[in-house]
Formats: sequence, structure tokens, C-alpha cells
Amino acid sequence: MKAARLYAPGDLRVEEVPRPEPGPGEVLVQVEVALTDGTDLKTYRRGHPLLARESPAPFGHEFCGILDGRRVVAANSAPCDACEGCARGEQCRELVFLAGAYADWIVVPERIAAVTLHPVPQGLAPQVAAMVEPLACCLRGVDRASVQAGDVVAILGAGPIGLMLAACVADAGGWPVVVGGREERRAFLDDFGAEPGDGQGADIVIEAAGSPEAWADAIALVRPGGTVVMFGGLPADARPGVDAYRLHYEELTVRGAFHHTPSTVRAALAFLASGAYPWERLVTHRILLADLPALFADPPRDLLKAAVTP
Ligand SMILES: [Zn+2]
Repeated sequence: MKAARLYAPGDLRVEEVPRPEPGPGEVLVQVEVALTDGTDLKTYRRGHPLLARESPAPFGHEFCGILDGRRVVAANSAPCDACEGCARGEQCRELVFLAGAYADWIVVPERIAAVTLHPVPQGLAPQVAAMVEPLACCLRGVDRASVQAGDVVAILGAGPIGLMLAACVADAGGWPVVVGGREERRAFLDDFGAEPGDGQGADIVIEAAGSPEAWADAIALVRPGGTVVMFGGLPADARPGVDAYRLHYEELTVRGAFHHTPSTVRAALAFLASGAYPWERLVTHRILLADLPALFADPPRDLLKAAVTP
């Protein structure tokens, strides 16, 4: 079969490889469509401590496919159900991951097959169903933000994640304000319940740009007594400074949000199927697997997500 594999940052190859054999409890899914996302682009550029541990590394994690004649989606992880985080009902500390969605076939590990793999609701297009994983992350982020009805929620980052966060905030009764972003991306805000703004004095700020500058901006923008959620990850050795005055004297709350949970994965699939927002608009490009390296090497300016078909 054909598969895209990441050899090193900037070195992505589509190659002929043996079709993987599922082990006990694992399932083999025929990929219909995979989606690109910001995490993959980041991994392509600088590697990733969790998602690209070997070389060559299987690549891609948002997909929809066929299993035993049924259309299914799976999240890219499942909690281990054994660690202290799982025991406390917090984020799992030993998440089981999958990768390799940019391929004809993908093996889904046993834990994921058992916990976060779901049949696709009737009528939901495969390239929309494949958004379940990023949308589940956004629902987790909005849960962590504890949005109350009427809260103004500034979102730093206007990519697909920023737009999905906006939809989740709006659905929770908040008022999403998207800060920054390119002109061509602002055209999408209205569709996802958001408006552009500077975010100054927001009740809640969600950092979804994944840069030290955005972390600092998030803490600078929120109102006294407000909440900041760090949604975008930084490199493992990053030590961004913190405005101690604001944190202490203005009693800010700063929380992290990472990844998704089985509960938000289920909720995301239902949210997609609801058709409440024009999710399909987030897929701006359609390419064949063979053209993936070229796309990552030089992403089009207007790219939100690309649907990649084998
Ligand atoms: Zn765990």
C-alpha cells in the first residue's frame, strides 16, 4: 500500500510499504480520507515529542475510513485507564496514540478501537466526520475555560482550530471574538459564530496560536479576575515569562487544556452531525496522497484543511 512517512523535519515521502497486520484487539481500517491540520504542519517543520518518535514515522491522525463495510472515525488516542490521571478523572498521563492516516490503510490500536472509534452517523460526509478529533480538542478546551452564558471569550488564532473553538464557545453561550489572523481567514468568522476584535478585557482568553508571544498576549488581554486557557502547545523546553503582577494582584486564573477525552470525542461527533455550523467550509483543498509532500513543503496561503485521498 502507499503511505506517507516522515523521515526528518522537512523530509516527508510517499512510499510503497507492506499493508500493516492488525494484532490482537487491533483493527485495520481502509482510509477514505485524511485531513491535514496545524499539528501535522508543526510536526513536519520541527518534529514532535509524542507524534513522531521514530524515523521514518507514520504520519497523519485525522481520518475517516471503512471497517467491516461500515464508515467509522477514530480519535488519535485513548486514555490508558490505569494511570493516576485516569483514576482522578483528569487527562490521562499515558495516552495511547495512533498515527499513519496518510495511507491506504491504518491499524487502530486496541484501546482506541475499544474506546474512541465510532460509526459515522448516516448522512455525515467523510471529510466532515474526520474533523472529530480537532473538534473534540476544542470542546475540551472550552470545558476547561468554564464558559458561562454571556462571557466574552477572546480566541488567539484564526486557523481551523480557532474557528472550531469559536463555534464551541458560541454553542456554550459565550461571545467569541477572534483576535488576529489573516484577512482571508476573517471571512470565515461569521459562519462560526465569531466576530473579529482585539480581545482587550475579555472575560476569558483562549490561546490557540501556540507561540510564546500568544501566551504573553493572552495574559495581557484578559480582564482582572478573568481566566486564560493555554490551548496551544509550545516546545518542551519553552519557559515563557509570566506577568506576576497581573496573576497575583488581579487574581487571574490560568489553566492548561490538552487534547480530548472519550466524552468530548462523542460530543464532537454529534456536534458535527448536527450541522449547526458549516464545517465543510474548513476543507479548502482536496489533494491526492502523492501530492502531500508538496503541500506541506509550500502550504497555500488560503489553506485551512486539505482533504487527502489515497
Ligand atoms: Zn491514563
